[in-house]
Amino acid sequence: MRGKEIFNQMSPYKPGKQIEDVKKEYGLEKIVKLASNENPFGYSTKVKQNLSNWTEHLEIYPDGYATNLRLALADKLDVDKDQLVFGCGSDEVVDIICRTFLEPGTNTIMASPTFPQYKHNARIQGAAIKEVALVDGYHDLEGMLNEVDEQTKVLWLCTPNNPTGCLINCEQFTYVMDNCPKHVLIVVDEAYYEYIETDDAPDTIAALKKYPNLIVLRTFSKAYGLAGLRVGYGVTSEEIATILNITRGPFNTTTIAQGSALIALEDEEFLQFSVNQNKQNKQDFIKFLDSIGLSYYDSETNFVFVKLPVPGDELFEYLLHKGFIVRSGEALGHPYGVRITIGNKPDMDELQQIMKEYFTSVNKKENIH
Ligand SMILES: *Cc1c(COP(=O)(O)O)cnc(C)c1O
Repeated sequence: MRGKEIFNQMSPYKPGKQIEDVKKEYGLEKIVKLASNENPFGYSTKVKQNLSNWTEHLEIYPDGYATNLRLALADKLDVDKDQLVFGCGSDEVVDIICRTFLEPGTNTIMASPTFPQYKHNARIQGAAIKEVALVDGYHDLEGMLNEVDEQTKVLWLCTPNNPTGCLINCEQFTYVMDNCPKHVLIVVDEAYYEYIETDDAPDTIAALKKYPNLIVLRTFSKAYGLAGLRVGYGVTSEEIATILNITRGPFNTTTIAQGSALIALEDEEFLQFSVNQNKQNKQDFIKFLDSIGLSYYDSETNFVFVKLPVPGDELFEYLLHKGFIVRSGEALGHPYGVRITIGNKPDMDELQQIMKEYFTSVNKKENIH
């Protein structure tokens, strides 16, 4: 059996290293995973306390409409409940968008490097991919708009962008929305929305009133700490939500995920704690990078992409031996760098110590040459 032609050129997603594998392979007791932008503080204890509420009737299919979560989110975001589309993570919403709008003969525009699932799913649908290089970590919006033609169906904006962390500001967002032809769906992936610090970020949800060709993606996987439950969503016009719901599987979010996401949404305290800790630890990390002369991209997220004088794999391997899993830029389309998730304070202090030792010895070696 052979799959579609395109599968000859594709491979399955290669995840960051798993904690248990690394422990075994390197004989380490403690592993700190700073590779997938997960919340280092876990998730809301209120969610944990309520987990058994959702396990009473696992023989029953979940509510395919996710009614309670839907109503709560519609209220919080001040949108109509039928403007929401839920997914098994926002990953699945990306796939649903591709299956709904893309086919051979169409094309789709995205930055490079950006979140790889846009390209991955678009290729499976047979669409042509137009990638526009980032400029110093930021989307080249003018360059992206120049690529739009009659066959363009979807334009992806990842803001803040993964893997760089750079944000599309208010003025830039309005510029794209006003200048992009209306036959193009603009996807704004805000997976790191809760971590944004600047006042200059666009209110994309409010912008839905003005732009019917917009969809905003958000997730419970990052700041809410529920990556293991898989729940994300898109907010768009009712018209687009209706077609996306045709593509969507009828029971694509679980009872446990829906119930837990609802409680997570209400636990403002945990969210604020996570966001505040991230802010402080990121500030400290950036000061540290400055102090050892490493540069990095601007970050409005819970990770920092550090530019390196050596291939990302080298620092990645070194840190792995010390029990720290980070993401090498080589897997992310930016070989001379690593993406590091901001962890808790003790772990970040230790990481900084190790990085300092590494770069002192690298510099020593270079001086000898
Ligand atoms: C992590 C991430 C997602 C995926 O989130 P899930 O909801 O867990 O599928 C989507 N977009 C970006 C940019 C991400 O970094």
